[in-house]
Amino acid sequence: MGRLVIVSNRVADPRKAASGGLAVAVGQALEATGGLWFGWSGKIVEDGTPGEGDLHLQTAGKVQLATVDLSREDHDSYYLGYSNGVLWPVFHYRLDLADFDAGYIGGYRRVNQMMAHKLASLLRPDDIIWVHDYHMIPLAAELRAMGCQQRMGFFLHIPLPPPLILAAVPEHDWLMRSLFAYDLVGFQSEADVAHFSRYVGTETGADILGEHEFRAFGKTLQVQAFPIGIDVDEFTQLGEAPEAQEMYTQIRGEYSRRRLLLGVERMDYSKGLPQRLKAFRQLLQAYPENLGSATLIQIAAPSRESVDAYAALRQELESLCGAINGNFGELDWMPVRYIHRNVARKRLPGLYRAASVALVTPLRDGMNLVAKEFVAAQDPDDPGVLVLSRFAGAAEQMHEALLVNPYDTTRTAETIQRALQMPLEERQRRHQALLGGIRAHDVHWWRKRFLDALAAVPAP
Ligand code: UDP
Repeated sequence: MGRLVIVSNRVADPRKAASGGLAVAVGQALEATGGLWFGWSGKIVEDGTPGEGDLHLQTAGKVQLATVDLSREDHDSYYLGYSNGVLWPVFHYRLDLADFDAGYIGGYRRVNQMMAHKLASLLRPDDIIWVHDYHMIPLAAELRAMGCQQRMGFFLHIPLPPPLILAAVPEHDWLMRSLFAYDLVGFQSEADVAHFSRYVGTETGADILGEHEFRAFGKTLQVQAFPIGIDVDEFTQLGEAPEAQEMYTQIRGEYSRRRLLLGVERMDYSKGLPQRLKAFRQLLQAYPENLGSATLIQIAAPSRESVDAYAALRQELESLCGAINGNFGELDWMPVRYIHRNVARKRLPGLYRAASVALVTPLRDGMNLVAKEFVAAQDPDDPGVLVLSRFAGAAEQMHEALLVNPYDTTRTAETIQRALQMPLEERQRRHQALLGGIRAHDVHWWRKRFLDALAAVPAP
């Protein structure tokens, strides 16, 4: 097999700890064979020229890291504008939040072109290229236009919406056509694959050659679901380290007389945070035995704060939390503890383990790794219960969670109550099944399945 080349918007040094499951998995794959990881350096050059950026090369063990700086203008149009102000909301079904008119597409194309030029200069003929996520959809098309013939795969970490939502993006034809420059495209869930299939069937007149094979624009493309997992062993080890243990002891001590519910996410409108708070309020109203006891710790880590939609969400959450605490709180009990800060990954396993119930209730999510981390962190003898949105990609795999429709506040509250009252034997049974699933389908399984499928694509 040729050298592995990973392309993603951000690049992590695989030798550095606590960089997350994807970085660990990709880092391990790169270290096994030696490889190249290419992407944005994270640096913004205030007075830089659009479409230009310095290339930095660095060696980390057997892995070469290649990163490119972005000018302020490119960063704002490619990253904040098109990637996070158009593709992110539309792909999460939020047409109302997409900013189609600002002309960000120019920056998105320009940066992908520049990235392709920089990467092409580093490529070898037998490289296998694996491109990640919505920032880089047209990268393969740009590389192909320069004559690159390497095997190329693409994995979309976020959902693919139904055709009539996707078709609202003015450049949808171009985006979807760009996907056909890859040899293999992977999605998180079967629902995403079905959307792709319907889109290309109706909008491009592609020939559907088989369940996973499509032909259009003179090119055959393999498409499959590859649900991403976590590194269960890495996460378990993290749970045994002092930071997580301290967190567990501290929270358990503090909440010994209470029932703890937990939500952990980036503050993002796809995560269903206002709906969750309303369901929690409903829980307190409909089941008063929870008064003075049930406490929701909601971590909402700051994210993309310079995108307008995020500021509005922050205000809404602060006002909801304030109202719930004001209406229900007592001198010795605050129902919601809302934390608008990032919690270090190494402390999270302790927090997960201390919780009786995790509320993972996004309105739409590609996968949702928090759901899997929560399961991995539980004490198998006395596990907490996962309440999971049916609209998270993870719901296709995690059938033993309590699945909810987060828009249905009353039934979500009912389900949370059921989770709080679930007998030990049922909790153990569900947890064991969930843990078996996330172990069998961990991030290494995901990576291997994708790379095996890419290697198996017939040569053109
Ligand atoms: N995370 C974290 N600290 C926080 C909030 C989240 O380390 O304060 C991590 C979390 O452990 C998980 C990731 O961020 O690994 C979030 O991944 P997920 O798939 O749930 O959502 P995304 O943020 O990618 O939409």
